[in-house]
Amino acid sequence: MYLSRFYLPLMKETPADAQIISHQLMLRAGMIRQGAAGIYSWLPLGFRVLQKIEQIVREEQNRAGAVEMLMPTIQSAELWRESGRYEAYGKEMLRITDRHDREMLYGPTNEELITEIFRAGTRSYKDLPKMLYHIQWKFRDEIRPRFGVMRGREFLMKDTYSFDLTEEASRKSYYKMFVAYLRTFNRLGLKSVPMKADTGPIGGDLSHEFIVLAETGESQVYCHRELIDMAVPGPDVDFDGDLEPIVQERTSLYAATDEMYDEKEFEKVPEDDRITARGIEVGHIFFFGTKYSAPMNCVVSGHDGRNVPVQMGSYGIGVSRLMGALIEAYHDENGCRWPVPVAPFHVGLINLKPGDEESDRLCQEFYAKLEGAGIEVLYDDTPARPGEKFARMDLIGLPYQMVVGPRGLATGHVEVKERHSGERIELTPDEALDHVS
Ligand code: ATP
Ligand code: MG
Ligand code: MG
Ligand code: MG
Repeated sequence: MYLSRFYLPLMKETPADAQIISHQLMLRAGMIRQGAAGIYSWLPLGFRVLQKIEQIVREEQNRAGAVEMLMPTIQSAELWRESGRYEAYGKEMLRITDRHDREMLYGPTNEELITEIFRAGTRSYKDLPKMLYHIQWKFRDEIRPRFGVMRGREFLMKDTYSFDLTEEASRKSYYKMFVAYLRTFNRLGLKSVPMKADTGPIGGDLSHEFIVLAETGESQVYCHRELIDMAVPGPDVDFDGDLEPIVQERTSLYAATDEMYDEKEFEKVPEDDRITARGIEVGHIFFFGTKYSAPMNCVVSGHDGRNVPVQMGSYGIGVSRLMGALIEAYHDENGCRWPVPVAPFHVGLINLKPGDEESDRLCQEFYAKLEGAGIEVLYDDTPARPGEKFARMDLIGLPYQMVVGPRGLATGHVEVKERHSGERIELTPDEALDHVS
């Protein structure tokens, strides 16, 4: 991508209402623009990161055996009356009336809709187990939308739903998601800790929140130190095998959010291992049995031919919130420092003197070679001053910068800067290509 063609509207002044660094940087680096409170447009740079996060979430869902689909954002109130949640959900639900005076709503979550879909298409225990997911915009009319995309009103969520015959089988689905979540956040570059959690308005009896520790997090959390750096299962983990030991290893150590905090239990953790911190809820998994299937009559015929309601769970990831969590974890005073898997581009190529024949030629050669090798490049071919170019590249935080200019080329060198460490090195063009590849 040539920067001259891209749309990167940087902001000079940080708006006063942006209180935390991720919100400030997303605005300053031209990643999002607020449309109304808690509702954002995703500008090209931010949208690229969002898509990368989404793709990693998708790959790990697929690996765990979940099947992707897409449900609409607008739902009919009728289904929510069947489950009894239409009134219970309260003001957080955005209610809409269509031209025929039918009551509609912008989905804050999808248990009702997926239960209706599943009951229409499933007859027998032989059709189980199943896990279905989608990645779709949700709307919750949060009383205090804040911190940018961290607590938006419109936000992108991945939500998976599991369907099983028995509670025991359902627990296996729960474990699959538990492990998939560990892998997902790890691949994104985040350390997540599963914590015992309240089941909230969704209900049920087994629930974990996945928390990323951060000073700006809205959750107060308590956990055993060992959980933070515990190794995560590799890509070869067998999702059809026994995942209980992986889950057990974690759930046997103390970890709880505020609502579930039990001082006496926490004090059994050796004092040096007790961590009391703030955290960001990036995912939440629930097992809730027949909470929706029973009232909504989502049944299958069991082994004895009699109908039984299916056992269900739901599993959410805050895809757009993750972007805020990532910036909270990866930034410095000059801007973002994206980890490679989610960086909007891999390399920022800076031409210090567009119009200089040799600089233009080498930049174009770099660009063609890197793009040809599948490495995404943002090529700063604009006439801006060097200082402005450097500051802009630092702000948007691509993992590598390649700096090409007449002074370096006079001795046959270009400069490569690693954004994360800040390290700069002089290299020949071939070495530079190798270094960023
Ligand atoms: P919170 O406690 O932050 O309000 P929640 O418990 O209400 O979140 P869930 O119903 O568990 O949220 O939804 C699943 C995931 O969706 C959450 O773990 C979170 O990552 C994300 N999420 C929820 N609300 C928002 C929001 N307003 N903005 C962005 N992401 C959100
Ligand atoms: Mg909430
Ligand atoms: Mg919560
Ligand atoms: Mg939650």
